[in-house]
Amino acid sequence: MQPSPSTTPGPGSAPWAVGHTRGMSDDDTSTALPQTCVRCGSQALLRIVGRCADCIGQLGLAGNDDYAAWRAEVKKEFGVQE
Ligand SMILES: [Zn+2]
Repeated sequence: MQPSPSTTPGPGSAPWAVGHTRGMSDDDTSTALPQTCVRCGSQALLRIVGRCADCIGQLGLAGNDDYAAWRAEVKKEFGVQE
């Protein structure tokens, strides 16, 4: 009458009880809210230093001074190494 040790989730395990607590970021406890992109003015859930994903894609494809400026801001914000 002792419970047998098990390392695999049994049929009684609730799938929603695992892995749902991962947040979007470590320092932001709020839920995701669209914010305005500083470049195009669109509402976007994903932004990096103010630019939405669409703009980042356009910047990367263009590869011009705007992209260099964005990269510089990313490096300043996150300390990304080249
Ligand atoms: Zn944008």
